[in-house]
Amino acid sequence: IMSSQFRPVLDHIMAEIDRTPGRGRSADYIPALAARDPRRFGMAVAEPDGTVYGVGEWRQPFSTQSITKVFTLALDLAREGDELWEHVGREPSGNPFNSLVQLEYESGIPRNPFINAGALVVTDRLQTRTGDAAGELLAFLRAESGNDALDFDLEVAASETANGDRNAALAHFMASYGNIDNDVPVLLDQYFRQCSVAASCADLALATGFLARHGIRADGSRLLSRSQAKQVNAVMLTCGTYDAAGDFAYRVGLPGKSGVGGGIIAVVPGRCTLCVWSPGLDERGNSVAGVAALDRFTTLTGLSVF
Ligand code: GLN
Repeated sequence: IMSSQFRPVLDHIMAEIDRTPGRGRSADYIPALAARDPRRFGMAVAEPDGTVYGVGEWRQPFSTQSITKVFTLALDLAREGDELWEHVGREPSGNPFNSLVQLEYESGIPRNPFINAGALVVTDRLQTRTGDAAGELLAFLRAESGNDALDFDLEVAASETANGDRNAALAHFMASYGNIDNDVPVLLDQYFRQCSVAASCADLALATGFLARHGIRADGSRLLSRSQAKQVNAVMLTCGTYDAAGDFAYRVGLPGKSGVGGGIIAVVPGRCTLCVWSPGLDERGNSVAGVAALDRFTTLTGLSVF
């Protein structure tokens, strides 16, 4: 497929999605997200050279949530390399994203960097190395998307803090095994601000570009080695949609990462990056219309890693 053919493909998907009933329910664990209409939809495709196409509400900022876990992983891996893997695993968990159950018999080492426990470890390590993990993330997203207006949504962050018992429990439990460096309240503040970043499909498709460019940032500098970029893509494929990662690989066939704000990013290595947003979620916390749209994209274009 030629790049100019992305536009008709996106138009086709948009028309199909508009006709599809049953779009799931928007996240309701914090009031700041519960107000979103599950039928809203946007989708963007970015090419490695920074050309970006979109349909629907592709320029509408939404709550990125767990999508940011990809960027903190990359930023920390770039700094500390393989030492990270002594503190967090890289196997799918088969459990919900906020689960505590595996942590005890695995001695405080979370299964992977994309469940909440693993993301807390990554943010903790990035915090130790930079003194401002969320600020580091925001600067990276602004630079890669070319959008200096990207910011935290402090209302969402405050809402997460007020309803943060479960993430606090995960952090304290791992701290009891010595797998958290920073004071738990400091870590939680960083993590909740990280989750609160508001960005659009266009911003996130562009910011994910380094994973399609095998580790090269928008300005041509290298963030990750080619091998590390492959590693991040692999962990996205196997763990990026939690206990639905098998089904996502089956339907979409791309490295992907979802968030409870209803966004999903996906990577076609060497070819393009995608971001889709629709707030209606399934019971595993993945956007219903988002997965459907990515499924249609890889089916219509033949672009998958398989
Ligand atoms: N802020 C959410 C949480 O920590 C992120 C979860 C998600 O997007 N899956 O529970």
